[in-house]
Formats: sequence, C-alpha cells, structure tokens
Amino acid sequence: MTDSTKHKGLRRQLLIQLKDKGISDNRVLAAMEKVPRHFFMDSGLNDFAYVDKAYPIGADQTISQPYTVGFQTQLLELEKGDKVLEIGTGSGYQTAVLLAFGNLKIYTIERQNELFKKTSILFKKLNLHPKKVVFGDGYKGLKESGPFQAILVTAGAPSVPKELLSQLTIGGRLVIPVGDKEQIMTRYLRKGEKDFDRESFGEFRFVPMLKNRN
Ligand code: SAH
Repeated sequence: MTDSTKHKGLRRQLLIQLKDKGISDNRVLAAMEKVPRHFFMDSGLNDFAYVDKAYPIGADQTISQPYTVGFQTQLLELEKGDKVLEIGTGSGYQTAVLLAFGNLKIYTIERQNELFKKTSILFKKLNLHPKKVVFGDGYKGLKESGPFQAILVTAGAPSVPKELLSQLTIGGRLVIPVGDKEQIMTRYLRKGEKDFDRESFGEFRFVPMLKNRN
C-alpha cells in the first residue's frame, strides 16, 4: 500500500473542507492528516477515499464519513495518556486516527467476525498497535481493561448502554450516537459515581449497534 503525492494532496483538500465544516481541534486535524484513509477501504474505492462520505466496507457495514470521525474525535476532548475504548472497529480507520495522536492507549471492539479478522490483519500489516482488538459485544464494554477516560461508539445505539457509563472514569467522556433511524450525537460526562452531564450535538446517521457477536 502506498500513500502517493496525489493521495496526500487529496487528503489536504479534504482537511480544508473539514475545517470549513467546523472541525477546529488542531490535534484532530493533525491526526487525520497522518492517516491514509484509502488504506482502510477496498482498492476499488480508492478514488473516493478523500470524499467526505461513508462507503461500504463489507458485512453490511460502512467506514464513517471523515466529518463524523473528526466530529466524534473532537467531542472526546482527549488528553495525553487517556485510555480510550472504541465500539465498532469496522474498517479500523477511526482506530488509526486515535492511534495517530501518538499518546493514547486504544482499545477497540468489533462484533462482526469477518471485519474483526480482516481489520486485525490490516493493523499488523500497517504496524498499528492498539492495546487490544477484541471480537465481542460492545454493549458490554471492556470492564477488565477499564475504566476509560473516553469511550467512543461508532454505531447507532437505540439507547445508552449503562455498562458503558459505568466504565468511565470520573471526568470521563462517552460519545455516542443515540436513536433508531437517525441518531442524536450525545456526550456524557461522568461527574461523580452516579452523576452524569448530558449534551446533544445534532443529527447523524450510523449503521445500527447490534447485540451480541456475529
Ligand atoms: N469505526 C468504524 C465504523 C464502522 S461502522 C470505521 O471507522 O470504519 C460501525 C461498526 O460497529 C460496524 O463494523 C459494526 O459491525 C460494529 N458494531 C455494531 N454493533 C456492535 C456491537 N454491539 N459491538 C461492537 N461492534 C459493533
């Protein structure tokens, strides 16, 4: 896999679009500039990798739209050393953007065995090292590795899994799109053992967060 001058140029143009659309956190923009999105898409779709749209990645799933990746990552308000749990590894693109911060500990869970296997191989090939890539059900979180300063759900959740809220540190953030057909981007901030602040950030569309492994 090569990251050509053409790809780099297209990526820079995409980043300008993302800034125009409101992605303002320079650390997020820098991370996204580092990650060749076309590495995480079928080679047949390479020409579209720097279009701000979601595309199919097999198993009826999609790689998130770059704007959505930027928006969710920005909402996490990540700090050096944070332990981050991603639900929905999918193509691995969002995982790679988090890894590109260079100072975070990343855990990621995928429920589709086909994608889990394919993306685990890709991570090795690209020399990317999340702390754990797990085949499992994200509704359960990853208690044994928690608590997490940040949890990011990249599939549409019909409701907020209590288990994920309970795996946040005090001060931790959960960013989750909540709803059935359309989702409201929602951020929970854990202020105390049972005390959470909730903020809403507009409508998005995700593939559904499904129960159990497949
Ligand atoms: N972050 C991914 C987005 C992929 S789409 C990317 O950048 O490509 C959402 C992913 O969530 C799909 O791969 C889907 O299989 C997965 N998913 C859905 N429900 C899940 C669950 N309960 N646990 C873990 N992963 C889940």
